[in-house]
Amino acid sequence: MNTLEVRTAVQTIEQEIVAWRRHIHAHPELGYEEVETAAFVAALLRSFGLEVMEGVGGSTGVVGILRGEGEEEGEGEGACVALRADMDALPVTEETGLAFASRHLGKMHACGHDGHTAMLLGAAKVLSLHRRSFAGTVKFFFQPAEECAPRGGALDMIDAAVMDNPKVNYVFALHLWRELPLGKVGVKAGPLMSASDRVRIRVQGNGGHGAAPHQAIDAVVVASHIVTALQAIASRQVDPLEPFVLTIGSFHAGQRYNVIAPYAELDGTVRTQSEALRGTIPNRITAIAQAVATGFGAEAQVNYEYGYPTLINQPHAVEAVSNAVTEVLGEQALVELTKPSMGGEDFAYFLNHAKGAMFWLGCRGPLSSDAPIHNGKFDFDEGALAVGTSVLVQTTLNTLRAQRHKEA
Ligand SMILES: [Zn+2]
Ligand SMILES: [Zn+2]
Repeated sequence: MNTLEVRTAVQTIEQEIVAWRRHIHAHPELGYEEVETAAFVAALLRSFGLEVMEGVGGSTGVVGILRGEGEEEGEGEGACVALRADMDALPVTEETGLAFASRHLGKMHACGHDGHTAMLLGAAKVLSLHRRSFAGTVKFFFQPAEECAPRGGALDMIDAAVMDNPKVNYVFALHLWRELPLGKVGVKAGPLMSASDRVRIRVQGNGGHGAAPHQAIDAVVVASHIVTALQAIASRQVDPLEPFVLTIGSFHAGQRYNVIAPYAELDGTVRTQSEALRGTIPNRITAIAQAVATGFGAEAQVNYEYGYPTLINQPHAVEAVSNAVTEVLGEQALVELTKPSMGGEDFAYFLNHAKGAMFWLGCRGPLSSDAPIHNGKFDFDEGALAVGTSVLVQTTLNTLRAQRHKEA
């Protein structure tokens, strides 16, 4: 299957991919609840003649396996490439006014996972129609709950041994990216997305009458000092050239305007890209929170939960994507990214088990909205669906070919 054939094959089914995307978009399901989405995916994969596993990882994961029927050149079980999409929506109320807008109130595909799922189905269909033109195995991972950090759905799939039998040599994924225009594909070796951890702090003071602060320990005042002091980790303790974010996104305390709050609860996220720095953060937060609290006669309890690791793209895998982009779309489509994102992605876990890469798929075009992802008005230009599908297919074919030559 040459590059022209890939382009033609994807064009032929482009309207189908769009229709799948719209169906999934209209019926969003939250993490671990992707029951209908998973059934939709599994039925299509079966109709393409793939071997299908459902309920993978104990919830709604789906795996499709496609064995190439092309001529084997080397010995052994052959190469194996895996492609991954995420299926979950967000608890966001849709405000796009689209004809295929969410029919499930308060739930929306606001991160483009509807597009990811539709493109992976497209790639599965194209490759299944051309299975005689390649040797080796392609696995299609449809995972639940990417948005459900700090655990996420990827680990459950990996624990269910999806990376084995046959062993996956390379794994790829994409994310729709509105900062890039339609027709562009962003690639980057090394860190692409950040480690994403959660920190919760409970400040215990002592409640009392709002008019008698000297008889109480005000948890609101203590917790406010802690929030402020924690910002000094970024500004004074971390190398200014090292990516780091600490955001306290939630602060809960108090019941009534004239009652001093006995306790306060803080909930925040920490983003890093270096494991060495990441390892020091729990102690830094604990030291500051406890020292500040003690100074005011209060107590602070810190609960630090490690989430998704840094997503680190393997250079050869990035090269495979870059070559595929150049071949199938032309050189002008390739964007070499200079900066990673501080966002997290549980695709990072797959990269702990095989070489691989995630790439960003430009989706800002005449038919997209201006809203960012996770916003009720988010929408992407559906022209991106054919672009992403072609890159997935071409990357897979190139990687299988290269692996075969290495084995032979
Ligand atoms: Zn998201
Ligand atoms: Zn996402």
